[in-house]
Amino acid sequence: MPREYLKQATLTPKSHATETHDIVKSILDEIEAGGDEAALKYAKQFDRYEGSVILGQAEIEAACALVPEKLRADIRFAHDNVRRFAELQKSTVRDVETEITPGFVAGQKAIPVDAAGCYVPGGRYSHIASAIMTVTTAKVAGCRHITACSPPRPGVGVNPAIVYAAHICGADKIMAMGGVQGVAAMTFGLFGLPKANILVGPGNQFVAEAKRILFGRVGIDMIAGPTDSLILADKQADPHIVATDLVSQAEHGYNSPVWLVTDDRVLAEEVLRRVPELIADLPELNGENAAAAWRDYAEVILCEDREDMAACSDEYAPEHLTVQAEDLDWWLNSLTCYGSLFLGEETTVSYGDKATGTNHVLPTSRAASYTGGLSVHKYMKIVTWQRATREGSKAVAEATARISRLEGMEGHARAADVRLAKYFPNETFD
Ligand code: NAD
Repeated sequence: MPREYLKQATLTPKSHATETHDIVKSILDEIEAGGDEAALKYAKQFDRYEGSVILGQAEIEAACALVPEKLRADIRFAHDNVRRFAELQKSTVRDVETEITPGFVAGQKAIPVDAAGCYVPGGRYSHIASAIMTVTTAKVAGCRHITACSPPRPGVGVNPAIVYAAHICGADKIMAMGGVQGVAAMTFGLFGLPKANILVGPGNQFVAEAKRILFGRVGIDMIAGPTDSLILADKQADPHIVATDLVSQAEHGYNSPVWLVTDDRVLAEEVLRRVPELIADLPELNGENAAAAWRDYAEVILCEDREDMAACSDEYAPEHLTVQAEDLDWWLNSLTCYGSLFLGEETTVSYGDKATGTNHVLPTSRAASYTGGLSVHKYMKIVTWQRATREGSKAVAEATARISRLEGMEGHARAADVRLAKYFPNETFD
């Protein structure tokens, strides 16, 4: 049976629009030339904000005091989980060495980047969890300077819960600036910040485009497009839970695709019936996002069997992948392309988005076919080193000289010759 689309998308998210590129490029150029003043101009223009840019200790304390104790405890809970997971990841990165040939030792070291710039989105929603995910992971990796930046609300500043989260997770600078100007300030080292070596964190199309343009002079975690999610469900799945989970992810934005892949027509039809009802029941803004995402970008695909479902899912390479089907181990062993995998009804993407410890900064727009999400590894440089005894360098020098001459690289060959002549003056080499 060929795959059947019970609902098909009419649009696909654009990862790179020319008009966005032109806008972002001109803002970046102006800020690079104009420095702090140019960045402030855009903060005023886009966010109607003219308050402090780098929050001082008193401002941080005042913001933290505004966060209710219950929410603080929840943030600490999430931070603890993200920290412990990041520490587990760090334990898998080891400095190693081996004797490649007798007397010749080579090794690798993992060195954290010095300065991390963490973008915490704050336009449509206040992404408290993004502060936890990006800052905590940078801290565990061992970065010396960590800046968290987030857009301020007019007359109010950065959401106090974001300030609290960034503070307790280990940011040493918190910057009230969003969008391209925030990314530019961290990259160019404005407002007294160290120049970032890496920019991480999700953001809208302007933030993503700024990171794309700046990549090369600064490292980035990934170019994130709109968030996307896929659910694999069989006949044992609960249609109400499946529908609720789809809606929960469509809420992200008008262009956030959600996909259901199933081998059960009855389940698919029930989910198709329930989703609009659940969207209608959301608060207005959330409902508008979810309704547009569902109308234009969502798909419901009927497959013949679970093998085809797994193949279909790998083709979509979703950012978030949920399995609500029998034999979770089979799915864990079979699926190969996803940012983060949620096995079984007892967990859900919302848990991972906020509090379970796995990172929520994940590859979108099929990037999961070639990369995973944010982890301590993205903040670490795996570098190599070598050293040798004189005896140990002999075989390598001879091979190097011959390969270099074949390549026509006489200078390289002589770097080997000079050592052979010095260390083994009584021998001849060809
Ligand atoms: P944001 O912080 O990314 O963007 C807000 C900023 O955009 C403002 O500060 C403003 O300076 C700038 N801006 C607004 N209009 C502009 C214009 N016309 N020209 C230039 N700059 C402009 O917040 P957002 O807009 O709410 O977007 C957040 C994004 O992050 C969403 O797409 C969401 O899906 C995504 N997200 C992804 C993940 C993930 O892990 N993939 C997690 C959380 C959020």
